[in-house]
Amino acid sequence: MAKKKFRGLVFIKPERCKGCEYCVEFCPTGAITMSHKFNSKGYHYPEFTAPDKCTGCGLCGMYCPDFAIYGMREAIEEG
Ligand code: SF4
Ligand code: SF4
Repeated sequence: MAKKKFRGLVFIKPERCKGCEYCVEFCPTGAITMSHKFNSKGYHYPEFTAPDKCTGCGLCGMYCPDFAIYGMREAIEEG
């Protein structure tokens, strides 16, 4: 029988971001980093730069005051 595992996924809405960096500071695995790019309001926003490190714990979304990032777990099948 296939073993079920999970991988972390992160969704980022750059236009909602105010660049506070809480998400990057509180991510326990370093899966996200601040982009050098700016959104239309002139703020840097996070990017999902190390997907392999993400556990889908959701802490980034819990700390974001602007609902600009969400972390979740997705089930994957391993043969
Ligand atoms: S879901 Fe957790 S591990 Fe993934 S980027 Fe967010 S805080 Fe980091
Ligand atoms: S916590 Fe939210 S507002 Fe702050 S940098 Fe991260 S995505 Fe942007």
